[in-house]
Amino acid sequence: MKPNAVKPMPQAAILRMFEIFESKNPHPKTELDYKNPFTLLVAVVLSAQATDTGVNKATKKLFEKIDSPEKMLALGEAGLKQYIKTIGLFNAKAKNIIALSKILTDDFDGQVPQSREDLQKLPGVGRKTANVVLNVVYGQPTLAVDTHIFRVSNRTGLAIGKNPLAVEWQLEKRVPEKFKRHAHHWLILHGRYICKARRPECWHCPVAAQCHYPAKTEKAA
Ligand code: SF4
Repeated sequence: MKPNAVKPMPQAAILRMFEIFESKNPHPKTELDYKNPFTLLVAVVLSAQATDTGVNKATKKLFEKIDSPEKMLALGEAGLKQYIKTIGLFNAKAKNIIALSKILTDDFDGQVPQSREDLQKLPGVGRKTANVVLNVVYGQPTLAVDTHIFRVSNRTGLAIGKNPLAVEWQLEKRVPEKFKRHAHHWLILHGRYICKARRPECWHCPVAAQCHYPAKTEKAA
């Protein structure tokens, strides 16, 4: 192990870490706005390399009118672009959303499928998006490793891995079963608001005692 490498967090500390997350936020939720499984799927596709706030701003008006694959097809690609043009990569995303709406209408009776395999067949839907949909809509204990979860997992020693899939496998093994359903949201929120990318705010971190990060920060005087 390199001298400054983070040591893996012991299982007892992992248990405590999630007990703390649960006590502070027993029912964590996604910060993406949605009305039903289809609108969540659309919001998650739109959120790739974009902030939840930016996506919510764009989808507010869209979801008032469009909340099913059939309505999305009727709106069409050009119509959809008018709503989402403030979001990065909106051209490609609009194309994917129209294509996935067609598949949902033709092959899935307009419903969002409940299996990862079927979800990943949809254009613009990778493993991470599928995991988010399965977790948020269908309550499955999936862990979608985004940039926040990847950072927090490696930084704290919770789950060390070189790429998102390696971290996902570690999390699968290491997160206690009873916390798996909500682990995804607790870790995202922790990464977004406390264990931030540029400078983690260790001085008010509730899981500092469990974290193995060797360069914990102090509040500036
Ligand atoms: S102590 Fe610091 S590095 Fe560790 S989890 Fe908390 S904010 Fe992140």
